[in-house]
Amino acid sequence: MPDEALDNRVGSATPAADTLAGIGVCSGFAAGPVYAVAPAPTLPPPGVPGPSDQDSALAALAQVAAYLRHRADEATEPTVAQILAAQAAMAEDPVLHQAVAARVVGGLPAAHAIADALAEHRAAFLAAGGYLAERVADLDDLRDRAVAVCLGRGMPGIPSPGHPYVLAARDLSPADTAGLDPHTVLALVTEEGGPTSHTAIVARALGIPAVVRCAGILDLPDGTLVGVDGGTGQVRVNPDPAWIHAQQQAQAARRERLAQSTGPGRTADGHPVALLANVGSAADLTSDVEGVGLFRTELLFLNRSVTPSHDEQIAAYAAVFEAAGGRRVVVRTLDAGADKPIPFLNQPSEPNPALGIRGLRLARRHPEVLRAQLAAIAAAARATGAQPWVMAPMVATATEAREFARQCRDAGLSTVGVMVEIPAAALSARAILSEVDFISIGTNDLSQYTFAADRMCGELADLLDPWQPALLSLVAACGEAGRALGKPVGVCGEAAADPALAPVLVGLGVTSLSMAARSVAAVRESLAAVTLDKCRRLAGAALAGSRPGEARVAAQRGQASVGGGRSATSGAPADGG
Ligand code: PEP
Ligand code: MG
Repeated sequence: MPDEALDNRVGSATPAADTLAGIGVCSGFAAGPVYAVAPAPTLPPPGVPGPSDQDSALAALAQVAAYLRHRADEATEPTVAQILAAQAAMAEDPVLHQAVAARVVGGLPAAHAIADALAEHRAAFLAAGGYLAERVADLDDLRDRAVAVCLGRGMPGIPSPGHPYVLAARDLSPADTAGLDPHTVLALVTEEGGPTSHTAIVARALGIPAVVRCAGILDLPDGTLVGVDGGTGQVRVNPDPAWIHAQQQAQAARRERLAQSTGPGRTADGHPVALLANVGSAADLTSDVEGVGLFRTELLFLNRSVTPSHDEQIAAYAAVFEAAGGRRVVVRTLDAGADKPIPFLNQPSEPNPALGIRGLRLARRHPEVLRAQLAAIAAAARATGAQPWVMAPMVATATEAREFARQCRDAGLSTVGVMVEIPAAALSARAILSEVDFISIGTNDLSQYTFAADRMCGELADLLDPWQPALLSLVAACGEAGRALGKPVGVCGEAAADPALAPVLVGLGVTSLSMAARSVAAVRESLAAVTLDKCRRLAGAALAGSRPGEARVAAQRGQASVGGGRSATSGAPADGG
């Protein structure tokens, strides 16, 4: 990776020999034994079953059932406990046992007999549709676990050693991260991924210190003690207890300082910058934010083989509106495709899914899904008295923005916006903003498409750095459009959570910042330390840098005239919300 990729993310101190270096994506410190996610097992070529294969297949299912029951007993969330108990019951199902035994008798070895019998169950569940079809992911998980046990491997998926631990993985998928418990998982360290990968997003949402692109973490034996610094990106192996103690004290002092910071976002001279939360459900919304700047509704659709019903959608949206209690809620319509496939849409595979039918483009193929979603959002708004803002992901042109706005208004939703995630949209920000009431910049995708760098590709993390001057220029174009038309311009990508970048974004004309609720305090503190004029000078310096490291250093030093830097002239109107 080029020097500039790491110069601001990995601490300046040269890592010691017993220190692994990665990119810190969620600050904070944690120490504990490391355990790695085991991959799903692959079946070896089928041999001939031995005399004990039937017993070992049934014993594997029993072991998995016992494991799931134990996890169900320990689960603190009733819904999670129910799901685990239902999965355990599937493993104990006598019909499944008979099907497995019959296959061993028919000539399949244990692991193959389990996989084959569960494949038949899977097909039957899918054919039945409805609730049963929804359970196929649980059957697949059961199969992977039982096959792994049969093959003498560790169970795949998130480990549960029975005590708090540091989770190591190649990278984590949305499904892996959905049930992570921040009380058990002390820190996340991945070998791959990048600052905008799901690992980073989930870590920030849960407030778990996290390091990505950390080569060597998977070479450590399970149980090795590590100290993880999610700020500097350093992972110390077998650290000294005195060092751990010092880090923990520093962490506690920082937490205490940030806990003092409350209230709305303001620069030192009182310019308001709304500080909002990115949420997937009502549970992510805390009290000390000014509202929701990004409600990722796709979490309701992921892993679903049938469309969530009208009533289910209304309940999910209404829960967030109620939790917001009159504060702003920006609902993003379904953003699926590429890295977020949705089973019920049966999307055919595409050679370049990130450039294909994703985000608003899904409505070209499935207009009924968008129509139903807008109707459910409007119904939830009526039921709760909320006045949600609604925005579409992956909008490229003013025509798309106009058509989306028309549909929203027809559905009775009056405050309409679009995300700016495609360079074309940033370049046409003014035309787009003329069609809608606000824009919100998704810097994760905007980086990906500006630099032609897959956001999941950790090797390209340097290009995906939100301090890249080219990315900031596109943000500036949006800010300029917002100033000209007097309309709000938010940022809801991961860039919004960087306390050092926040004043730069405000100087570029951004009027609200939306991030994981846990990141808000640090951003609030950072903004409170600078005037709007200083923000503009910092923005000018950051734009003038030729690479992210320079931009960051220039901004941090407040060198508004670095390299004869142009100055950001945005009038930065206050956010309308
Ligand atoms: C973004 O692209 O910046 C964004 C906020 O959307 P997502 O990360 O959900 O794609
Ligand atoms: Mg996006």
